[in-house]
Amino acid sequence: MKEDIGQQAIAALEGIVGASRLLTDPESIEHYGQDWTKTGPVEALAVALPSDTDQVSKILKYCSDQEYAVVPSGGRTGLAGGAMACKGEVILSLERMNKILRFDPIGATITVEAGVTTQAVQEAAAEHGLFFGLDLASKGSSQIGGNIATNAGGTKLIKYGGMREQVLGIEAVLPSGEILDLNTSLRKNNVGYDLKQLFIGSEGTLGIVTKATLKLMPAPKNLRAMLMAVPDFSKVTELFSMCSKHHLAPTAFEFFSDQALAVVLKHNSSLKAPFATDAKYYVLLEVEDHGSAEEAMGCYCEAAMEASLIEDAVISYSSDDFNSIWSLRENISESLATDGRVAKNDIALAICDLAGYLEEILALTNQNADINIVLFGHIGDGNIHINYTAPFDLSEEQFKGQVKDLEEKYFSILKKYRGSISAEHGIGILKKPQLPISCTQLQIDLMRQIKKCIDPKGIMNPGKIFDSKI
Ligand SMILES: Cc1cc2nc3c(=O)[nH]c(=O)nc-3n(C[C@H](O)[C@H](O)[C@H](O)COP(=O)(O)OP(=O)(O)OC[C@H]3O[C@@H](n4cnc5c(N)ncnc54)[C@H](O)[C@@H]3O)c2cc1C
Repeated sequence: MKEDIGQQAIAALEGIVGASRLLTDPESIEHYGQDWTKTGPVEALAVALPSDTDQVSKILKYCSDQEYAVVPSGGRTGLAGGAMACKGEVILSLERMNKILRFDPIGATITVEAGVTTQAVQEAAAEHGLFFGLDLASKGSSQIGGNIATNAGGTKLIKYGGMREQVLGIEAVLPSGEILDLNTSLRKNNVGYDLKQLFIGSEGTLGIVTKATLKLMPAPKNLRAMLMAVPDFSKVTELFSMCSKHHLAPTAFEFFSDQALAVVLKHNSSLKAPFATDAKYYVLLEVEDHGSAEEAMGCYCEAAMEASLIEDAVISYSSDDFNSIWSLRENISESLATDGRVAKNDIALAICDLAGYLEEILALTNQNADINIVLFGHIGDGNIHINYTAPFDLSEEQFKGQVKDLEEKYFSILKKYRGSISAEHGIGILKKPQLPISCTQLQIDLMRQIKKCIDPKGIMNPGKIFDSKI
């Protein structure tokens, strides 16, 4: 009986997208039904690959009528298990909706389908001498729809803001199949509640984002990068606060630990150690050079040396230098994944609290022999990625158990600082149990009511962010 219903659904969905665009083979379900975290096991009815908004609308209308749950699938680079299909859902992939629809040179905006990759938008902007302000190491695969659904942050947030700041308008298909057209390119628009903001960061739980209009900026010119070797973490935040005194407006202010650097060098033979002597931490400062950056960076460096904030520094003089410095930072996630078991979180704190928090958690970590902590993150945004790592020898079960124990302790300290359990990756499935650490019950209740209002049957990405219980 259940199988008959499944076959009917498959036939109906094939009728909407075409038989070749409705995939039911186990390989495709495995491929489209999970994100970077691979929080299995994957279980889905089928993968639908619609080609336009009309097909998305028909799929959702059908799924709503039949009460089939739907998981939106973007580039599947998510780090919270948000795009995981585990309960026989219909996976809706935006992969074929990858057209750049419109470029407006006067307003400096671009309108795209949601399946366009982040990198494709960056490249399209660059072709017109403009710049898209979201940058992240997953840009080759992550999609604009996924970036919107996760309110992605990235390395340039300090200067350009996160995804929320890049989006002028969206088109979204509601669970009922209705098309909500909020896709304007207006910069000012005070007409009641700003509904598009609800979809930004909603992790696919309210509807499917099908199109977006994004802000572009003048392209930054002559970017320079400086890498500094730093003896301890408290000096990292001091270095950040020193930037303004030296009239340096960072376009990025990133940090990583000695262990992060070691793992990158181990797995990327073309990259070289930046300094003759290792340091405990490294800071990557990027600024735009309008003519005086070299002098300002030199003065900054001298002052930092005098105050014993840094042990060494190197400044980029060519695009090769610049790219080599950035490669050390951008290869961390991939290298960690190759090196052994890794679980990560992406907490946020007030910048002034970062050093105190890290001191407290690292004191706890030293008591754990199996798990190693590798740190990197976006200091300018108060966002640290804590990576729990262990060799593959440690069984997955033991690894998960030990990470859970440590994370509980870290999060209880985080609560004390009023930090966030997710700066940019979202809650998905993985951080759902910890949501109350950073949200009050009233907040969660209001979110549930909004969900219930837009998705009364609870078909959109159920079980993500919170259990709906509607
Ligand atoms: C190496 C690496 C580096 C990363 N660096 C960063 C970083 O610096 N900053 C950062 O913020 N993140 C980072 N991430 C995480 C990830 O790339 C982002 O969360 C990204 O925005 C996810 O986009 P995606 O298209 O891959 O989404 P997916 O993983 O496919 O989906 C993410 C969530 O969005 C939903 N979704 C996807 N598309 C849609 C749609 N069209 N409509 C509605 N819901 C949708 C999914 O259901 C899921 O809940 C990184 C990941 C990796 C692997």
